[in-house]
Amino acid sequence: MSQLHPGVLPATVRADFPLLRGEDAPVYLDNAATTQKPQVVLDAVVDYYRTANSNVGRGHHRLALTATDRYESARAAVGRFLGARHPEEIVFTANTTDSTNLLAEVVGRRVVGRGDQVVVSGMEHNSNLLPWRRLCDQVGARLVVAPTDPAGRVDLPAFTALMGPKVRIVAVAHVSNVLGTVNPVREMAEVAHRHGALVVVDGAQAVAHLAVDVGELDADFYCFSGHKVYGPMGVGVLYGKHDLLADLPPFRVGGGTVKGVRHDEPVHYVPAPARFEAGTPDVAGAVGLAAGLEYLLDLGGPAVRAHDESLVAAVLEAVADLDDVDVVGDPGAVPCGIVSLSVRGIHPYDVGGHLDAHGIAVRCGVHCASTFLDSLGLVGTVRLSFAVYNTLEEIEYLRSVLKTVRPGTW
Ligand code: PLP
Repeated sequence: MSQLHPGVLPATVRADFPLLRGEDAPVYLDNAATTQKPQVVLDAVVDYYRTANSNVGRGHHRLALTATDRYESARAAVGRFLGARHPEEIVFTANTTDSTNLLAEVVGRRVVGRGDQVVVSGMEHNSNLLPWRRLCDQVGARLVVAPTDPAGRVDLPAFTALMGPKVRIVAVAHVSNVLGTVNPVREMAEVAHRHGALVVVDGAQAVAHLAVDVGELDADFYCFSGHKVYGPMGVGVLYGKHDLLADLPPFRVGGGTVKGVRHDEPVHYVPAPARFEAGTPDVAGAVGLAAGLEYLLDLGGPAVRAHDESLVAAVLEAVADLDDVDVVGDPGAVPCGIVSLSVRGIHPYDVGGHLDAHGIAVRCGVHCASTFLDSLGLVGTVRLSFAVYNTLEEIEYLRSVLKTVRPGTW
């Protein structure tokens, strides 16, 4: 594959990703599942283990202090990336799912009681649905689903109409992992706060594509995964407003969450974020994540967004005259980093198999959002999702292969 880029990012970007080098490299359009990792991230992880590996927050020898310093620098870098006011507002978790589970257990159990309500949107990934559903089942609260319109957008007036004194938490995706729809999170937060509800934003699909500012969104909590934003697998982020985190009990307890314990005295947990990071954290993961975010920042937010938009526009144009191929979702919107297709008369898995046989990696099916797919009346979609290394040439190739899909062609 040659280096044909839409022009807003350096043509060398693709070469930064070892897995994508060489003639046999896949056309990788499954970035919403996980992104590939640039060399700088791999180097940061290896460098950490080669030069600084030690346990953090406990030891007093020089290596332990170096490791702690790298870990806390990574936390500060994530905080700056999200526009957090204090590094202590950043809790490292394992992934988005871990963050939402932590919130449901800790925040949910504190503020949601019998007869209360938790509102989610109709397009949530299971990771921002099931923790809330389980919480509601356990405490006798009601999970309310804010409807999406037939084009797959959150219906803001309908959402607003659901708000009332019983709503304790609103949990919503910033960007849909199925359609790439950008939800009006700031407006939703404003409405939710007016009714005294807390706002949890699942940013798993947003951070690699949008300039996220948690202050501007006024999100109380914001979650994402390192591996979807050029960082390693195994590390995730939970941002929480300082005063809210300060008021919460720990999730898991154990080493790192307390200063000292005596059998006959009450346990006093350390403040956030360490209070929520029981046990040895994924320090190399955090360091690698910071390197991934820095890589993205170096490319520049506006250039990354423009690149995304040109790829999305190219796909929409590429499939416009393919009679059997439909774009799922709002025809007027420019989705964020994701385009979902359906091919008439052919199951998404069959389309995916055909594309894979031609070296194109996409995700097919319900994307862990079967409730959303049900509401759209679809058994699944063929999801194309983009990253900084994708090229217009790859979209042209995709089009040529899509033209050859027939039932049972693979
Ligand atoms: N939320 C959304 C919107 C997602 O797209 C995903 C993963 O695809 C998740 C949550 C879960 O992410 P993870 O598996 O990294 O926890």
